This record gives sequence, structure tokens and C-alpha cells, in this order.
Amino acid sequence: MNTLRHTKIVVTLGPALDETETLKRVILAGADVFRANFSHGSLETHEQRIRMVRDTATQLNKIVAILVDLQGPKIRIGRFKQGKIFLKEGQPFILDTRLEGDVGDEKTVGLDYKYLPRDVRPGDTLLLDDGRIELNVQQINNQCVHCVVTVGGELSNHKGINRLGGGLSAGALTDKDRENIKIAAQLNADYLAISFPRSADDIKEARILLKAAGGTAGIIAKIERTEAVTHIEEIIQVSDAIMIARGDLGVELGDAELPALQKRIIRLSRHFNKAAITATQMLETMTYNTIPTRAEVSDVANAVLDGTDAVMLSGETAIGKYPDKAVAAMHRICLSAEKHLSKKTLTPKKEPHFHHVDEAIAMATMYTANHLDIKAIIALTESGSTPLWMSRVRSSIPIYGLSRHSTTLRRMTLYRGVFPISFDATHIDRRILNIEAIATLQKAGVLQRGDWVIITKGDLIGVHGKTNSLKIVTVGDLPNHLDAKK
Ligand code: PGA
Ligand code: MN
Repeated sequence: MNTLRHTKIVVTLGPALDETETLKRVILAGADVFRANFSHGSLETHEQRIRMVRDTATQLNKIVAILVDLQGPKIRIGRFKQGKIFLKEGQPFILDTRLEGDVGDEKTVGLDYKYLPRDVRPGDTLLLDDGRIELNVQQINNQCVHCVVTVGGELSNHKGINRLGGGLSAGALTDKDRENIKIAAQLNADYLAISFPRSADDIKEARILLKAAGGTAGIIAKIERTEAVTHIEEIIQVSDAIMIARGDLGVELGDAELPALQKRIIRLSRHFNKAAITATQMLETMTYNTIPTRAEVSDVANAVLDGTDAVMLSGETAIGKYPDKAVAAMHRICLSAEKHLSKKTLTPKKEPHFHHVDEAIAMATMYTANHLDIKAIIALTESGSTPLWMSRVRSSIPIYGLSRHSTTLRRMTLYRGVFPISFDATHIDRRILNIEAIATLQKAGVLQRGDWVIITKGDLIGVHGKTNSLKIVTVGDLPNHLDAKK
């Protein structure tokens, strides 16, 4: 890709990406992170898909990350005798927790959450199938919730239920999720997304389980229920990244709340030094069409202008007809939107005090880079923490994260404006380290003689969190031993 896109693209795996050729086109079109959605599909299928992504990316010499997305306690209705029913406005309908199997009909259906009768009150609104069907709770009778249909329509097997305003007490980690955390660790996932967390404790618990299973993934909190919005600051602080999961969130809070909330969550994530992913229905109509609607183009562009790290595709790439076209569309929309961000704006941190040396170096680097004619920033990094700090400051200057650790390289694929490059500094004589690092970018065609760059690194090469210096360097000639032309 010749033009550098700063906003990253997350794509969801699914049957539409099962052909190697399609997957190749999606990677070449610019996918950075691949999401395995554990709400659907067997474990074998997920493993197979993840292996295929890794093999194909290696073949193409691209660094991509794997994100395992847990199902979480999404409440779903059971199955119908006929597979689906039609509900008419005004008719009664009963949710019966005792029903098992495919026995549902026009009058009643089972559901997989036994505590619904305890969690709802007469007068509550229940939303089914992402809000397409609306039920009003009339009365609760032992294990049954008696409702009246207020918005009707077709209802098929296993559709999700949300309560308007939230308040369902299901914990975030189901037994299946606990098992899948172990699987994510075995699969060496780079990110693990927790669905429907209510509080910081849910994220902390997932982190303990992941660590116990030997996993190193970054933890993503999906903000998709009312309680998570109430506790947003605590949740962000204990997570590595945040997903604005607009599908479920829009059902619980009402869709009209989403645009303002999206801006707020992105702003807070940047403030707390965490990455943000904007997700769901971004290019929804491209599931069936070759081009997006104007509204979808605006949605992706506005997420970029809001400062999101990444934009996400769901059904568009998992089951869509044009997965590579959807990624290509996102790529060009992001690039155009990025052109319109003011070129060099410094967003100073709200907090006046820095708490870490690498944070201070990162802020000084961005301040300098944004006020000097700097072509690129080169961060020699162990954990990726300095580039993450840097990318919280708005800038059009690319940050190259050079690391010898493949886990760090893959972790950085999500950070806005950070470009991971494999580079082992531990075996290089310190006197020529800068030259060698710059040469890596010269060979990649990124830097030319005379360009100015900033290099950050630590005194102790190979030690985490120890970046303590920044140096402004002019790019010279490519050293003889690295120049193929000489
Ligand atoms: P999901 O999460 O695709 O796993 O439901 C995203 C959302 O709710 O928007
Ligand atoms: Mn969701």
C-alpha cells in the first residue's frame, strides 16, 4: 500500500473469508486485526481460520493481530417448532424459562437466561432481534414473563433479548467464556474482547483467568450495556482497549444516544492511554452491495475525526458478498478523513503531571515532532508502551514501532498511526544503532537522505518500559554494507 493510513481496520472472520484468495485480497486491502467471534461457529472452525490468517499474513509479509471475542451473557430466546413465527402488535406473548428445545410458537417461547423473571418489572420494555421487535412486560408469574407485543414482525430462533435501560443482572463471564479464555491463551491470541462487562471487576476477573492460563493478550472491554456506561472510567482504566459495541449498546440505551456517547468514549480512552475501536454496522449495506451508502461513508469518516484507533467490520466481512471491497472502502474513507484533520495539532494531556519516564519522552517527542519538520518517529520498543503513549497525541507524523518481539509487533497493529516493524536491537553495537534503525526505514522507502527523524530508546536495550531518551537525527546516506546498489 503506497499511502499510509493511520486508522486501523478490524475485520470479522466468517465463511466469507474461508477462501485463501479472498483472505489474501482482504489482507492486501489493508486489514490489520482479525476478529474470531466466539458467539458463532465451532472451536475447530475458529482454530482453522486463525491458522489460515497467520499463514497467509506470513506469506504476504504482513503483520496482523488475532482478536478473540467472547460470546458473553447475551440472552437469547429458544427455538420455534417452525423455525420462526410472526408476532402481531397487541397480541400476548409469554417468555417461559421452563421451555426446552424447539417448542416455541405464536404464544410462547423458551429462553436461555433463567433469571429474567427476577430481573424485570411490569411496564419494562424488552427488545428482541436488535430492537426490531418490542415487548411490554405485563406481569411476572413464577418462571414466566407475560408480555404484550408493542412492535411486531418476524421472529426466528435464538434471537437476542435486551431490556431497555439495562439492568439485567447476568455476570459478564459465562462458563463457556471461562473455557474460551483458556482456548484464547492456547491460540496465543493478541487481543481478548470481553462481552457485556458491567464493571471494572469483570475485566479484572478476565485478566486473572487469562494470566492463569498463560495468555498474553491485551484485554478489550466491549461497551454494550448501560452499566458499563455508568462505570466507563473505571472500566477503561483496567482495560487495554475499548470497543464501542454499538449494536447492543444502541438497543439498551436507544440508538440516538450513540453518536455523542461514541465521541465521549473515544475521548476518555485516549485520555487514559487506551486504544478505541468503533464497531458495528459501519458499512452494513456492503454485506450485499458493492458500494456503501453516503451515510455509512460519513459514519466511518466521523469515527476517524472523533479520534478512534480502529474501525470494525462485522457481517460485512464474515458473511458478506464483497468482503475485500468493504475493506477497500474503509481504507479510502479513512485516508480521506485523515487528510482533513488539522495537520499538526497538539492535544496536550488534560492531566498536568506525567507518571512515567516513557510517557514523558513520548509527550516530548510528539510536542517536538508536531512543531518541527519531522518526517517520522522511530520508537525502539520492548512492550509497545512508548508508541502507545505517542499515538494518544494527534499527529499526522507516522510512528514506527521497532521491536524484536512478535507479540509487541502484533499488539501495535491496533494503535492509530503506529506501524510495527520487526527489528532486533539487542545484537547491534550501540554506536551504530540509530544508523541501523534508520537504514531499515530507508530500505523500506520511507526515509530519504536529509529527512529529519526522532528516535526514542532506552539506555538498557532489551528492557521493558525503560525508554528514557529522544534524539533528533538527520538521515544520511544508506551505509555501504546495507546498500544493494553499491
Ligand atoms: P457483537 O458485538 O458483534 O459481538 O454483538 C458488537 C456490538 O454489539 O456492537
Ligand atoms: Mn454485542
